[in-house]
Amino acid sequence: MDGMYPNDICATVEADRAHVWHHLFQHAALETQDPRIFLEGKGMTLWDQAGREYLDAVSGGVWTVNVGYGRESIANAVRDQLLKLNFFASNAGNVPAAQFAQRLTEKTPGLTRVFYANSGSEANEKAFKMVRQIAHKHHGGKKWKVLYRERDYHGTSIGALAACGQQERYDQFGPFPDGFVQVPHCLEYRAQWDVEEYGQRAADAIEEVILREGPDTVGSICLEPITAGGGVITPPQGYWERVQEICRKYDILIHIDEVVCGLGRTGQWFGYQNYGIKPDFVTCAKGLASGYAAISCLITTEEVFDKFRTDPGDKLSHFRDISTFGGCTGGPAAALENLRIIEEEALLDNTLAMGALLMDRLQELKDKHAIVGDVRGKGLFCGLELVADRTTREPLAEPLVDAVVAGCDAEGVIIGRTARALPGFNNTLCLSPALIVGSSEITRITETLDRVLGKIAA
Ligand code: PLP
Repeated sequence: MDGMYPNDICATVEADRAHVWHHLFQHAALETQDPRIFLEGKGMTLWDQAGREYLDAVSGGVWTVNVGYGRESIANAVRDQLLKLNFFASNAGNVPAAQFAQRLTEKTPGLTRVFYANSGSEANEKAFKMVRQIAHKHHGGKKWKVLYRERDYHGTSIGALAACGQQERYDQFGPFPDGFVQVPHCLEYRAQWDVEEYGQRAADAIEEVILREGPDTVGSICLEPITAGGGVITPPQGYWERVQEICRKYDILIHIDEVVCGLGRTGQWFGYQNYGIKPDFVTCAKGLASGYAAISCLITTEEVFDKFRTDPGDKLSHFRDISTFGGCTGGPAAALENLRIIEEEALLDNTLAMGALLMDRLQELKDKHAIVGDVRGKGLFCGLELVADRTTREPLAEPLVDAVVAGCDAEGVIIGRTARALPGFNNTLCLSPALIVGSSEITRITETLDRVLGKIAA
């Protein structure tokens, strides 16, 4: 490695190799290459330790850096706030937290209360805990179960993994807590029912689970508006209307996990707003502050808030929950500025326009390359499912999917792919550039994909 990088970078690469356990790390990777360390980012461009430049088509790897890298105004907002007051937790508020809660709930008609946390997993855990406490307080211990959907993901903690629909993520981490019940996925391309009204049928499958479990045992259903890492699964027509109808019929709270879609990714503030859903809980994280500071939150209704009013006869009747770093002021300060940027630069409009262009280009790739089986997405949240055979829809072998990602990387374009390990759903490429993307970057991404798909198909 000596001579490859400047001396200080050499030492950093060595420190990383010796001491950092990277997320999703495969040990074999270090046998063939140095760990990659990004040194700098600006807009949608990243530079690594070797000075190589990349166009980031996945917003920080995991749908996060929505307003792009190097935003001085966010850094300044955080700096100013930290110097004024960096932290206080427990039962007192702070200025950016109050201001951001107000600004955020302006975007979520019907939802009025914001509970701060640190990560998407944790925000989801808050909702699961609220459902259980509501069951204790208001349903005589019943209605405590949470439904979740095959292929959805809600986080890394054991509770969130109990609600995980991706076997490859939860295998080897059990046993899990009781009360989390899976409903079928709704991906029409991998249809489970041979019917015309697929959305209606996939939603009816939820009702079947509710009836099997007993409606008086089910408290909530937790769903991604569009399944992200599980396959970029956009819901079929009619799905959400029917899901909502079913939930209202059985008095089941609707929890929408907006950790990926939240704050603009689909061209609406939240993914659920594309489908006319009226949620009881919305959880969000990644795009809230575009990764400039860690922040997540749960947003809920006044009705849910009221269920936790202090009962003079029960000292534990309030929501007795805290996250230490929910008291960090840097998160909401960054989120406030992030929101201002999205508004001032009309990034929702850009997402709709550039998302339409990206989808058109991906459809052209599908027309050209037989290994593209399906193109799905909304706004700047797109997926390309790769197949070995278009007729049978046999998934493209995993090493070949990896080769597409590596081929784009070698050409300086970073794309993503869905969760690995299980055949059938690990073959979707993820494209989710920052909301600031322009047509020249879209062209670069799709031209690169075009070349790489051509090589792999050959
Ligand atoms: N929910 C969804 C839909 C996600 O994609 C993720 C992470 O990728 C999470 C929850 C968990 O968020 P975090 O990693 O911040 O805990």
